[in-house]
Amino acid sequence: MTDLVSDYVDHHLSMWDRLRFQLHLGMCRHCREYLRQVRLTRETVGALPPEMPDEVRDALLDRFRTWRRPPGPDDAYR
Ligand SMILES: [Zn+2]
Repeated sequence: MTDLVSDYVDHHLSMWDRLRFQLHLGMCRHCREYLRQVRLTRETVGALPPEMPDEVRDALLDRFRTWRRPPGPDDAYR
């Protein structure tokens, strides 16, 4: 699901996947929270200097991505 969130934000999903994702968002608050965070991250990265090398930006994005994940199936307290 977390990969889908990135594709969703980047508009890389097909219309069908997009619809299914939105359906899931309606039922899953973890994904809604994750989507909110990804969008926030994108805005933050978008505000960085444009001359930043792609590698640095990607490294930052990766850092943000793993910074706080929504609880997964192996989350003990749920
Ligand atoms: Zn979900």
